[in-house]
This record gives sequence, structure tokens and C-alpha cells, in this order.
Amino acid sequence: MTTDALGQLDLDHLFHPSTDLRTHGRTGPLVWQRGEGVYVYDTEGRQYLEGMAGLWCTALGYGEPELVEAARKQMETFCYGPLFAGKANEPSIRLAAKLAEWVPIDGARFLFGCSGSDANDAQVKLIRYYFNAIGKPQKKKILSRGNAYHGVTLASAALTGLPSFHKHFDLPGDDVIHLTSPYHYRHAEPGESEEAFSDRLAEELRAVIAREGADTIAAMIAEPLMGAGGVIPPPKGYFDKIQPILRENGILLIDDEVVCGFGRTGNDFGCQTWDMQPATMTMAKALSSAYQPISAVAVPPFMYEAIAEASGDVGLFAHGLTYAGHPVAAAVALRNLELMEERGVMAHAANMGERLQAGLQRVREHPLVGDVRGESLIAGVEFVADRDTHERFPAEEKIAFRAAAACLEEGLIVRALPGDTIAVCPPLVISEAQVDELVEKLVRGLDRVE
Ligand code: PLP
Repeated sequence: MTTDALGQLDLDHLFHPSTDLRTHGRTGPLVWQRGEGVYVYDTEGRQYLEGMAGLWCTALGYGEPELVEAARKQMETFCYGPLFAGKANEPSIRLAAKLAEWVPIDGARFLFGCSGSDANDAQVKLIRYYFNAIGKPQKKKILSRGNAYHGVTLASAALTGLPSFHKHFDLPGDDVIHLTSPYHYRHAEPGESEEAFSDRLAEELRAVIAREGADTIAAMIAEPLMGAGGVIPPPKGYFDKIQPILRENGILLIDDEVVCGFGRTGNDFGCQTWDMQPATMTMAKALSSAYQPISAVAVPPFMYEAIAEASGDVGLFAHGLTYAGHPVAAAVALRNLELMEERGVMAHAANMGERLQAGLQRVREHPLVGDVRGESLIAGVEFVADRDTHERFPAEEKIAFRAAAACLEEGLIVRALPGDTIAVCPPLVISEAQVDELVEKLVRGLDRVE
């Protein structure tokens, strides 16, 4: 089918998520056709370096034959069998056992889902079920943060701290409290160090707990490094300062590893990069390198045991998606983790991450650039109208969108995020030469922006 014909069908029939639906009718889609390694190709055969790993997810890159084979074999053998009522399928059992080797929560059990969003909804339900089970039903509220991104289903969208994900949706968000975003570049006082900023955020946390009452707050959810909210690493000392406060007040830490998990920040998980000791973890995206939709929640023994006991009152633990533990998705995720181990992908990604961060220092001096930040193979470049005052560009200038479009012209995919930042997050299997190519194309793209 020609590009024009596909474009017309798209305009007639597709409802695009996270898209400006007014302008889409004028511009139409950019349609990808195939991918190989870190490159993708559009319907005109143009090649692009996938500097965003799709949506932070294609960790092993495109066209990996081992993952294709894992899916094909599983579909042929046994395409579907639910985990309901104590039934199981072999790939989901083996994937849970494999995750137990990776995840730094001793004795965790794994509840599977299909997306990061439904997994974060499950987190809220699990935490509430747990506190109900142990006789603390008033512990309901969840702390989140401005700029957080936790998904789009009702509970996960309420946890998300970005206004556009709330506006017009009438979310049930009364039980979510958003703390100040740990965004040093934007929210620090003039001259305030990262440590001092973290102290201030810890004080805010104490004040919120005192105001609400520790007995009403169940958990705090945090991405180790915020992704979609602007690629915001925690300021120095942040988790060291807030975790003792959470512990003192019996507030559980939910670690959202949907972006950071599986090598993105130089370690297996972001919680290891920033020394977090979470109660639970949410994983998705790189868990299957996006070859199949799958997510997982790691549930620690103390929660599992209380939940198991309480589920006896109801007769069952009444939460589960039809496709939770889908055997094809689980088989692909299992092979994905095995390949990461066999090929030393974690160590490779950490090396490429150092090269990327060093290379990106080249854009720091660009006149449009106010901040370059990130960790290992994830980075953000924030644009400002005034480098001294950090003054933003007027919103109508859509500077990040124009920068992303200019990079696309150079054959590089980056993503414009809210708040005038573009994100870079390439597949973990990117080579040295491809990291250099990414940086070169980014510099040329920024030079095109007027
Ligand atoms: N949590 C984080 C940190 C994410 O970045 C995302 C998606 O980007 C989600 C949760 C939601 O995942 P999904 O889009 O698979 O529902």
C-alpha cells in the first residue's frame, strides 16, 4: 500500500493516543514499516536511529531472531492458558523464577499484567488490600510527586503528576497527594545545592505526613529517575533522606521501574543506582524488550502472606487480567532476560551509557540548551530562552517539538516531553559507533532549530 493511501486510512479510522488530535488531521501519520538493530525504517524506506527505543522499551533492539523464535515456538505449543483458579503455564512459572534471581526483594512473588499502567493500578489495590488485611483500613492515601509518570489507567493516571494526564478526565484522585517534584534545575532556590534541595523536600515530606496523619498514608510511589516527566534524576541525597522518614511512619515505598528497570541507568534496576530499598516494584517495557506486552509487580513475602490470609474471607484473590501471565508474552520475556544474561547486556549498556553522557556534554554549550541531565543510557536536554535565569520559551514556540522534528530530519528519533525537554533513551544494544552517530545527529538537529 502506498504511504498516501495508508495515511488516508489512518486519518479515517485510527484514534491516536497522546497526540494533538486537532493538528493530526492536517499532518497525518509517520508510519514505521520495519526495524533492525537500533534502526527503524518508514514506508518510504528512510532510515532513522531509534534514539528513544520506541517508548523507552525496545532494549534488545529490533528484529532479534531469538525473541521471534521464542514467540513462534510458544504460540505453536500452547498459545494461551490463564493463571486463574490455581492453573498455570510453564513460561509464566519460569519467568517468575527468573525474575526472583534479578529483583532485589528477597522472596518476592510476581503478579503479571499487560502494561505498566495496569501494574501500577494493581500496586494501589495490593497495598490497600494489604493494609485492610492487617487491620489498618484507614491507611489509604498514596504519595506521589509532580512530574511523575505512572501510566494512564484510572489509578495510575491519578498517581501521574503531569496536568495534561488529569485535565478533562475527572479522575478519582482524592487519595493521591503530589509532593514537590525533585527537579533541581526548575525547583531549587537560586544557589541551593542538590543536598540542600533534598533536605527541603524531606522537610516537606515530614510536614505532609504530620498534616495528613501517618495512619492515613499507605505508600509513596517513585520512579528512581523520572522519565516522561522530563528525565529528572533524583538530586544528591534525595532517597537517603526520604526513605528513613517513610520507614519511621510505616509508609511503603513502591518503586516504579517501568523505565529504569533492566539496565537503563547502569545497573539492573534504578533502585540500585540510587540505593533505594523499596517494598514493591513495578516492571514492564524492557522486561520483554517490547516484543510482547507484559508487566510484573514484585510482591514481598510480608505482603503476600497477609493478602493470602485475607483472601480466604472472600474465597479468592479477586484481581487478575485475562492475559496476565500470557504464555507467549512470558516466554518472550524469559528469553529476553536470558539473552541479557548470556550477552552481558547490562555491562555493555553501562559502558555505552558512559559514552553517551560524555558525548552529550557537546550540546551543553548550545545557545538553546539550559540543562543536560540523565544517567547512563537515558538523558534529557532542556531548552531555555535565557540560560542564566532559566526562563522558558513561550509555550506556543513548542521548542521541544521543533527540536525533535529537526532531529527527525537528521534521521534521529528523540522525544519531546512536557516542559521543553527532549529525551534520549536508545536500545541497550547500541554500539560505540552508534552512540557517536546519535550525538552527532542530535548536535546537527539542534543546529537546525531557529
Ligand atoms: N510507569 C512509568 C515510569 C512509565 O514511564 C510508564 C510508561 O511510559 C508507565 C508506568 C506506564 O506503562 P504503560 O505505558 O505500559 O502502561
